[in-house]
Amino acid sequence: MRHNTEAKRQDHRLSTIESMNARIDTVERKRVAIIGGGISGLTSAFYLLKSAGKKGIELEVTLVDESRSLGGVFKSASYDGLRLDLGPECFVTGKPAVLDLANELGIGSTILRQSTRRTFIARGSFLSKIPDGLFALTPNLKDMATSDLFSWTGKIRMALEPFVQKQERLTDESVATFIERRFGKELLQRLAEPMIGGLYGIEPENLSAQMTLPYMRSLEKEHGSVIKGIIQKTVKRHSETGEWFTSPPSCKGTMATFDEGMTALTQMLEKCVQSKCKVIEAHADSIEPVNEGKTWKTRLSNGLQIDSDAVVVALPAKSAGRTLLQTDRWLSECLQSINYSSPIVVSLVFEKSAFKSAPHGSGFLVAGDTRKSVRACTFSSSKFKRRNYQNKVVLRVSVDSTKYRESSDEQIKIAVLEDLSRFIEITGEPLFCAVARHNEAIPQFAPRHGHLLKEIELRKNRFASLALVGNAYGAIGVADCITRAKEESQRIADCLFSVVNP
Ligand SMILES: Cc1cc2nc3c(=O)[nH]c(=O)nc-3n(C[C@H](O)[C@H](O)[C@H](O)COP(=O)(O)OP(=O)(O)OC[C@H]3O[C@@H](n4cnc5c(N)ncnc54)[C@H](O)[C@@H]3O)c2cc1C
Repeated sequence: MRHNTEAKRQDHRLSTIESMNARIDTVERKRVAIIGGGISGLTSAFYLLKSAGKKGIELEVTLVDESRSLGGVFKSASYDGLRLDLGPECFVTGKPAVLDLANELGIGSTILRQSTRRTFIARGSFLSKIPDGLFALTPNLKDMATSDLFSWTGKIRMALEPFVQKQERLTDESVATFIERRFGKELLQRLAEPMIGGLYGIEPENLSAQMTLPYMRSLEKEHGSVIKGIIQKTVKRHSETGEWFTSPPSCKGTMATFDEGMTALTQMLEKCVQSKCKVIEAHADSIEPVNEGKTWKTRLSNGLQIDSDAVVVALPAKSAGRTLLQTDRWLSECLQSINYSSPIVVSLVFEKSAFKSAPHGSGFLVAGDTRKSVRACTFSSSKFKRRNYQNKVVLRVSVDSTKYRESSDEQIKIAVLEDLSRFIEITGEPLFCAVARHNEAIPQFAPRHGHLLKEIELRKNRFASLALVGNAYGAIGVADCITRAKEESQRIADCLFSVVNP
């Protein structure tokens, strides 16, 4: 009896010591390496540190980027106190990720919504206004009827969309095939093609409909037609909530920016995380799992090696693929098979007097049969009423980078000014011109990209403490990158901190 009681006491003491040991083990610091310091990497650092802070856990974060400055494609140029965006220029407010992050960073009050939505398509030497509501899939019918962008036969073909048979076996197809099949060639050539060219820098034939137009495809699948789907959803919503609007999140809301431009976001993120994490400027050569992914080893080009408990790969897919070769050859090959376009952006500042009448509206997209060097032009100073634009006219131009990759900045500037003068009357020289080249920056979601992504997720999920973030994994927008980075950071935090705090 005595023996039994003593044994129980000993057992109890042992289990107390074990749990104390486990406790000592669990309060140990956790380490995360984040490779890539664009918006995806910076957001990951921000939310990981935030979750650790909330749980009172000490987290050691190392952020690696090969570039001298953080922010990735968020770049800007300055002229006379004006900060000009040379990377992203705005974000959609329909997806809350940017608004939420900006509020958490304390810069929510500096957000500026677009002051006009009037957008044009350049055809021949004319600018035709895109009918109101068409972007949001709720076109103004009067505007559609009177629009000079489409011919009557083109408009009738679009209106016949509900009678087009649904594709029974919905395999992925190109945006060009989907739009032409459902709405006819004119909508494809006069609207979809210039939009895709302006946004992605490629032709709609090379872009996956499943990745780019998921909402429209789901309407076809569920309702047999896009137009029927919109009408049925609208009626249902109205009967349930009294509201009419049924646009997808990507089309809802407006475009917005920050009063100091988009780099205000990455700069504030950098400021917030910098004091709490170690930043290393180096190229990451390889990322390898140790002990089946219980820890990670990242080798840098400067000879340094980072050991961590988790790794967030926030690189463009090709670069991610190269660094993950030792982790999983198939994952690496899938990532490297994603092609990227390399946009060129030109920012121009003029005096107002350089125009007979200053451009009004948010800008124009150039139709393929009209295109020379300019793919799209934003009338930045009209689209956003930023305080420091003062009396200047600011234009931001996307250039056909396939033609001008080898050209000098001066040659690009001359080609752009000559091409712009087909559509807007410019009588004076620009005060300032900046040319930015973004090498392999925008992923091309080719048809069947969705299948490739499934394969990538499957392989990645073999490692609980590996995260892949960036613009290759769903959608390219700033809001999408932030959403993914936030979700993946939460997953990594759960994985790391549940061990710390069971
Ligand atoms: C010109 C342009 C305009 C755009 N306009 C808009 C817009 O108006 N609105 C919108 O919503 N979206 C826009 N986008 C899309 C959006 O901005 C991007 O998808 C997003 O910013 C990508 O961020 P990221 O952090 O994933 O990648 P990146 O910004 O590409 O960052 C990746 C980082 O990884 C680093 N890196 C690469 N390889 C290595 C390596 N081996 N070792 C270490 N570091 C490495 C790079 O230096 C870089 O800093 C635009 C994109 C471009 C290029």
